[in-house]
Amino acid sequence: MHAIPEGISLEQARELLFRIPISYETTSVPISAACGKILASDYYAPCGLPTFSKSPLDGYAFRSCDSVGASHKHPVALEIIEEIRAGDYPQKALGPFQAAKILTGAPIPVGADAVVRFEDTAFTPDKVEIFRTYLSDTNIIHEGEDMEKGALAASSGTCVTPPTAGLLASLGFSHIEVYQKPSIALISTGNELIEPGNPLGPGKIYNSNLYTIGSYIEAAGAELSYTGMAEDRDDAIASQILGAMKSSQMIVTTGGVSVGDYDRVRTALESFGAEILFWRIALKPGAAILAALFQGRLILGLSGNPGSAATALHLLGVPYIRKLCGRKDILPAPVQALLKEDFNKSSPNRRFLHGKIVYQGGHTYFSRTGHQGNHVISSFVGCDALADIPAGSPKIPAGTMLNTYFI
Ligand code: AMP
Ligand code: MG
Repeated sequence: MHAIPEGISLEQARELLFRIPISYETTSVPISAACGKILASDYYAPCGLPTFSKSPLDGYAFRSCDSVGASHKHPVALEIIEEIRAGDYPQKALGPFQAAKILTGAPIPVGADAVVRFEDTAFTPDKVEIFRTYLSDTNIIHEGEDMEKGALAASSGTCVTPPTAGLLASLGFSHIEVYQKPSIALISTGNELIEPGNPLGPGKIYNSNLYTIGSYIEAAGAELSYTGMAEDRDDAIASQILGAMKSSQMIVTTGGVSVGDYDRVRTALESFGAEILFWRIALKPGAAILAALFQGRLILGLSGNPGSAATALHLLGVPYIRKLCGRKDILPAPVQALLKEDFNKSSPNRRFLHGKIVYQGGHTYFSRTGHQGNHVISSFVGCDALADIPAGSPKIPAGTMLNTYFI
């Protein structure tokens, strides 16, 4: 039996998780349902965008060379040979001193290289006068100006945003290939847990992790496919995990991963032969964490402490969930920020503070959202970033530059 990595760094723990092979399933969805999904294929522009050169305004298309020398005193008169509306296709090429009435979005006729707006002309149904010299290319949107034919319009592993959906639609894609949402189970372990809605007996607590961790799992892009509760017994935990295996690609548990007599998640996993990948990581809060592999699926055992569980989920669980979703950008986005208020504790171990990013007076600050502690959940409300405090740091004065990560 090989030694189980214990007390490893966050980066080593991520490395062990990211190494797990994943088999992806993809599906085709109509573009109307694509937003928020992860693209499973690269999309290249099959045509230029726009697909033809067009007018950005209502006016007259003409040959710029005909306007040379035009002035209010000596206007140039052009013969109007047709009207082109959006959706029309020009029937005629322009010859010398000819113009076409053109409406916004209509194709530029052959021969024309400029468009003058209505307001800048004098016109009758057959004739338009222009009053100055126009350069070639005035008021023309060129074919391919927005996107060239063959350019990468959207890449695999990225999330479809509203403009991605619009861009793909404008290129004519009606359906796109996306990754299936991963299905994730969440099992809350602990003899003390009661579901909200029921009376609290003495010594009991409400199962809040189901809602915090469950919602964060869904926000990361996964589907919560199974939820369950287990008492602190190997058989109860094992049966919940094995039950969840049927419908889930990953299982998250909370509670029971520390060193107490009733921390039974590890022994429960070992009872059915799961391979323990690592136990405990070198950071606070959230050091008590366990990762195991069974039938190719990750079981991530988080601490029951709500603050620890939420921190560890963001640092380790969410990146893995994003990977399961097919995303390429899986790590939290870094932002350097100045500590807003003094932090008056030293940090013998690496520590993640939870707080929020605040922009003030041209600076980016990290401001703690209240009390920090393993058991604290209230101050996660409003938290949008975690600040990385290196091991061995003394107390930190306000104004210190920190590496922080958006969650
Ligand atoms: P454990 O990780 O089992 O040692 O639990 C650590 C602390 O978290 C204890 O105070 C537990 O009562 C609490 N706890 C465990 N599970 C949950 C849960 N699902 N929701 C809220 N608190 C919990
Ligand atoms: Mg417990």
